Amino acid sequence: MSIVQPNGVIGILGGGQLGRMFTIAARNMGYEVIVLDPDKHSPAGQLATEHVCAEYDAPAALEHMIRTCAAITTEFENIPASILEQLAARLPVRPGARAVTITQDRIHEKTFLRDQGFPTAPFVVLRADADLEGALTHISSPAILKVSRFGYDGKGQYSVGSAADLQAGWAALGGNACVLEQRVKLDVEISVVLARSSTGETATFPVGENSHVNGILDVSIVPARVDPALCEQAIQMAKDIATALDYVGVMAVEFFVADGKLLVNEIAPRPHNSGHYTLDATATSQFEQQVRAVCGLPLGDTRLLSPVVMVNMLGDIWHGGEAPKWDKLLSHDNVKLHLYGKREARPGRKMGHFNVLASEVETALSLARDIQQQLARP
Ligand code: ATP
Ligand code: MG
Repeated sequence: MSIVQPNGVIGILGGGQLGRMFTIAARNMGYEVIVLDPDKHSPAGQLATEHVCAEYDAPAALEHMIRTCAAITTEFENIPASILEQLAARLPVRPGARAVTITQDRIHEKTFLRDQGFPTAPFVVLRADADLEGALTHISSPAILKVSRFGYDGKGQYSVGSAADLQAGWAALGGNACVLEQRVKLDVEISVVLARSSTGETATFPVGENSHVNGILDVSIVPARVDPALCEQAIQMAKDIATALDYVGVMAVEFFVADGKLLVNEIAPRPHNSGHYTLDATATSQFEQQVRAVCGLPLGDTRLLSPVVMVNMLGDIWHGGEAPKWDKLLSHDNVKLHLYGKREARPGRKMGHFNVLASEVETALSLARDIQQQLARP
């Protein structure tokens, strides 16, 4: 197994905020980072050693990555598998094409989970008009129609209460392949972020308790205020999923807790928003861990150093396009600010996050909520 030593060059496909935080971790450890992203203002490109501003399938750009990098990773799941395979023929690509191919497509992902015996919410696959008929006899409403490819932050989803809704949703989602999923009554949502090395060693971060607003992660609370036995079960399931995928790198598994039982919601083949708390509250961050896993180094210590609440900041709080007054937020000595360097704030766009640390998780949560309310006011 080849090790890429610090001062080596890591290539990353995708230059969003996840790539940016990966780049910071990698550069901090002495690596050079080359970002491939078509956006000339990409958050990661700003901080990389080199930003290759091109489409992901541009032959010259890929050839440049192959010739310059010692290993390649990805920060989002929508890179075509054929490109990952093409790269993997020439240098280490972590995670590999198979894991990304399965997790970038809800149909593959849910079918994989079901075949491997992991519990999911009941679902049926819809690929053509004819599949709509009878779908609601297998899945009772309320249900959610989710497009199979390219959905994120609750986009590409449609609430279904009747056969007419299903028709309308199918049309609204362009007649693209979908899963129709039972809406389950959630007790709570949790996630496990973990890393798996190329030798099969795993390291799991503490379980996060997540709450969403309009389908977008709002806060992660750590430690999760959930039965420890259930957390242990979630950790074991996440490890088993990583092993079944023969995964190398950092990944996240999102779970629903419904009726006191775990259901796997989805798998992210990359560091995850619900793991941003690790930037300030664990001995190793999920991004440093990704660097270690990609480079074949020993995985870092994932111990929680302090209870923490992570709060996402969307463009909605850039009132009139103007950034919040950060001095108020930073006047608390236990609050850590992370901004992604995005030029334009739009409603629903993830602009940054902050982590609130405290000796008790409830204290962190109540301060986090106070600050959130303050930021929401113009
Ligand atoms: P992200 O990119 O943030 O992970 P996504 O677009 O992939 O989101 P999902 O994770 O499928 O979307 O759904 C987003 C949120 O919507 C979930 O975290 C959950 O709060 C709610 N949700 C989705 N599916 C269900 C369901 N079957 N039953 C109840 N709630 C659901
Ligand atoms: Mg999700």
